[in-house]
Amino acid sequence: MALLVQKYGGTSVGSTERIKNVARRVAKYFTQGHELVVVVSAMSGETNRLIALAKEIQAHPDPRELDVMVSTGEQVTVALLAMALKELNIKAKSYTGGQVRILTDSAHTKARILKIDEDRIRADLEAGYVVVVAGFQGIDEANNITTLGRGGSDTTGVALAAALKADECQIYTDVNGIYTTDPRIVPEARRLKTITFEEMLEMASLGSKVLQIRSVEFAGKYKVKLRVLSSFGEDGEGTLITFEEDNNMEQAVISGIAFNRDEAKITILGAPDHPGVAYQILGPVADANIDVDMIIQNVSHDGTTDFSFTVNRNEFTNTMNILRDKILPHIGARDVIGGDKIAKVSLVGVGMRSHAGIASKMFRVLAEEGINIQMITTSEIKISVVVDEKYMELAVRVLHKAFDLDQAQ
Ligand code: ADP
Ligand code: ASP
Ligand code: MG
Repeated sequence: MALLVQKYGGTSVGSTERIKNVARRVAKYFTQGHELVVVVSAMSGETNRLIALAKEIQAHPDPRELDVMVSTGEQVTVALLAMALKELNIKAKSYTGGQVRILTDSAHTKARILKIDEDRIRADLEAGYVVVVAGFQGIDEANNITTLGRGGSDTTGVALAAALKADECQIYTDVNGIYTTDPRIVPEARRLKTITFEEMLEMASLGSKVLQIRSVEFAGKYKVKLRVLSSFGEDGEGTLITFEEDNNMEQAVISGIAFNRDEAKITILGAPDHPGVAYQILGPVADANIDVDMIIQNVSHDGTTDFSFTVNRNEFTNTMNILRDKILPHIGARDVIGGDKIAKVSLVGVGMRSHAGIASKMFRVLAEEGINIQMITTSEIKISVVVDEKYMELAVRVLHKAFDLDQAQ
């Protein structure tokens, strides 16, 4: 018999009826003799509702207090699920992250898990309980409640599976696996039977929010067997994240398309082209704790160059202010311009390593639709382009078709 960690997302626990369904699924595995640790999210919409509430009081809510509040969403669902299990005559106990002692650092609203005490959970499992743990939250060294960033319940699930050396971590959600792209945007998207860990890591980091990126990192680091499945209807096989490329199968060149509307683009016009300027521009940005994603510097023209980069959209105004106030006057550039109506579209696939011409095909397909490419970056297994936000969905659809992702491999 196996030790399973099952995580159920917000839609899957969105009503008491759905929580009862989750309880029935958990009960099915439990009565088969498996040991179960179940991680749940808050009811769908609840985390957003709580954040909005905080913003009615403080435009930029105090991070410590925000964590105290948003962590309550998951506290409600763990208790409800434990009750629903008890109604099915199954011994169950719920815990908050702090009660388990999921120790994190103190970076409120985006804390990282440092250590998990598994003793209490193990003792409960041995005593025949289903253990229900609140996702998305932990506690720091000084006993402050912390949260793990949006989508963080995935990470709680995978981290618990790693700590308990579970046989499998099953992420139950509202789609029955990982698709070639978000099925909400492209109805023809297909479920992948497997996806390599590297590809999943890219997909998650490039905007596919089906798994929080840190959960994928955890799975990679601790070699957790990770599967994404639907909590609605019968259990299918979902999608398994694999650690080796399956050599027996004809590998598709592109496995998936990710997209992301979370970025904004900033350009410094006429920056002097001499050593140290990139550092002068990006140093103060980094000092303000702002992450930079794509960076492009143009060829020099009359001793000056244009320098563009992207940041998270909610750092856009902040970054523009830093550039105008602290950077422009020092380096003597002509101007700084920017916009947040951009989107990044990325092709991901380990098959790219052994295939040439992917980028040119991507650019041709976009050109045929009249979609202008503003920025490009590539790595061994991905190509990303920045386009005007209003063309994002079109770009994803035409690329999905052009690379035959709608066809069974
Ligand atoms: P949960 O609340 O269960 O954590 P999420 O909303 O975080 O669920 O993640 C599931 C959603 O992720 C799906 O409904 C789907 O719209 C979206 N999604 C984005 N990219 C993909 C993809 N490549 N495959 C499957 N789902 C995707
Ligand atoms: N409830 C949290 C969120 O909405 C965590 C999660 O669902 O994974 O982001
Ligand atoms: Mg999620």
